[in-house]
Amino acid sequence: MKKEKLGIPVRKNEEYTMTIDDISTSGEGIGKIKGYTLFLKGALPGDEILVKVLKTTKKYGFGKLIKILKPSSSRVEPICPIAGRCGGCQLLHYKYDSQLEYKRNKVKNALERIGGITDVEVKETIGMEEPYYYRNKVQYPVGLDKDKKVQIGFYAIRSHTIVESKTCYIQNKFNDSIIQKIKEYIDESRLSIYSEQAHQGLLRHIVTRIGYYTKEIMVCLVVNGESIPNESLLVEKLRTIPHMKSILLNTNKKKSNVILGEDIKCLWGKETITDDIGDIKYKISLLSFYQVNPIQTKKLYDKVLEYVNPRGNETIWDIYCGIGTIGLYLARHVKQIYGIEIIPQAIEDAKENARINHIKNAEFYVGKAEEILPKKHEKENIKADIIIIDPPRKGCDQALLETLIQIKAKKIIYVSCDPATLARDLKILTNGGYAIVVIQPLDMFAHSVHVETVALMSRTEK
Ligand code: SAH
Repeated sequence: MKKEKLGIPVRKNEEYTMTIDDISTSGEGIGKIKGYTLFLKGALPGDEILVKVLKTTKKYGFGKLIKILKPSSSRVEPICPIAGRCGGCQLLHYKYDSQLEYKRNKVKNALERIGGITDVEVKETIGMEEPYYYRNKVQYPVGLDKDKKVQIGFYAIRSHTIVESKTCYIQNKFNDSIIQKIKEYIDESRLSIYSEQAHQGLLRHIVTRIGYYTKEIMVCLVVNGESIPNESLLVEKLRTIPHMKSILLNTNKKKSNVILGEDIKCLWGKETITDDIGDIKYKISLLSFYQVNPIQTKKLYDKVLEYVNPRGNETIWDIYCGIGTIGLYLARHVKQIYGIEIIPQAIEDAKENARINHIKNAEFYVGKAEEILPKKHEKENIKADIIIIDPPRKGCDQALLETLIQIKAKKIIYVSCDPATLARDLKILTNGGYAIVVIQPLDMFAHSVHVETVALMSRTEK
């Protein structure tokens, strides 16, 4: 009664037909019934559907897709049998070209809505030729189902229920044989499986990293303890897989959603693997950030290089540098690289990466970018012709943005994995004397709703 008074034209648990005309930032279809907005998982713009209303609020409601009456011309049959249940890919039912357009619009909308930025060119999303089997890193949660059967797969959407995955179409195919060997080991060694509720049992996650060009493999078991039973059996099984280079045990005893703990024990091989991007080699350790899509990473770094447009005499700051990837990719084309990164292990990797590539014009600092850069700017009056920033999803700290404005570099190149924080930060930089030259979205995470963006800015005020 009350809701009808509020003017809500639909009722909970009743079915309606409707047309979907938009898609949300998290991939839900959006449509209207008599002017009232409904969000539906699995529905696409252009679909005509039968919907059951699940929940209503004053302004909008949520529905369940009951039946597709007429499919959108952008709809495809998902390649994966667990699509729609697994939380990993939200867009497998969306034509790849439409995904790319969706991502471009997502960036455009965030810039407009959050940054008030309307007058810039947002280029078409740079996509993949073959948008499958691209990821070099996987983190499988391990659990038991209600019949106590071991489940290795991925979390369902917004939950910690594990959906078992036999094969994943965005992961490296080598993972299937790795998981098979680990399953055999679990059975034969009677390894206990971790329960989140009870905070008991050993095996929590299996993490793998695979070099795309080198094919080198790292496998890590994340356990709620310091050791596992019969570890030589695990090693014996895994080392038969071609290109196996590193078998690790990571201890995580915390009651938390963070997957990896800090303690790593090397069970076999090396603690790192190596991969190449272009003609640079990178050593990668378990705890360091490394882009997950090597094919698109090369395109991303080439785009940064194009925006740098090097003459050879530039001093470049690579902020949030991880293992030094972007800076080292540019180092041979410019005069000097400085990198800043918060994770000590990543900075060790960055220095080692400079060494193995015989790069002598790169220096790295460990610490918070928002503390190191202001301090260096104040005390040393640093030189910075071009500044590259590649922050995590939460974007840049205010103190860092203020320093960027004071440094007055000729260009800022902002690499972002979240359009919302990108838009927020670009607004601050544009108010501080920088103009946006161009915005380039790139598809680093095919079939998910996520989008990577590179923004080139140039200094307008002296
Ligand atoms: N440019 C790198 C890494 C980008 S990911 C690449 O392309 O591979 C973002 C990085 O920022 C991570 O390595 C993370 O550890 C680091 N980071 C997060 N917060 C930071 C902070 N406040 N100061 C410096 N680095 C930070």
